[in-house]
Amino acid sequence: MSERTIFDRILDGEIPCHRVYEDDHVLAFLDIAPLSRGHTLLIPKERKAHLHQLSDDSAAALGRVLPRLCRAVLQATGASAYNVLQNNGAAAHQAVMHVHFHVIPKLGDRGLGIGWRPGRLAPEEAEELVAAIRAGLDG
Ligand code: AMP
Repeated sequence: MSERTIFDRILDGEIPCHRVYEDDHVLAFLDIAPLSRGHTLLIPKERKAHLHQLSDDSAAALGRVLPRLCRAVLQATGASAYNVLQNNGAAAHQAVMHVHFHVIPKLGDRGLGIGWRPGRLAPEEAEELVAAIRAGLDG
């Protein structure tokens, strides 16, 4: 079994969190080191490190709650712009190896900073990629 994370300890009630929502499948709480006021995390109770490892049930539960949570965070903070961020793997800046979605309001210069370096999608490459990804989705 993989190592227990800080979020396992929150789920098990060993350490406190600033909880904003909970149901049978998910928990949402304030991020302890917020990028902006209202920065909130949504996690599944299923203990998986990465998004692609989640069951359909957990995925559905997260999808059901996420837009509602975003609306509530916007209302509470007065923000009208926000980012939803979900990191997978240390190379992609994941520090806690339990699936989590960040809801990060954009408030003035506070919020998520993004380095975005667009490339170019060649038609042959696109065709190859579409075939490969479709094959993966068929499974
Ligand atoms: P990530 O880099 O996507 O893995 O982000 C992990 C997030 O978890 C960071 O934004 C941390 O501030 C947050 N975090 C870590 N420990 C706690 C905690 N005990 N309570 C709330 N948020 C936490």
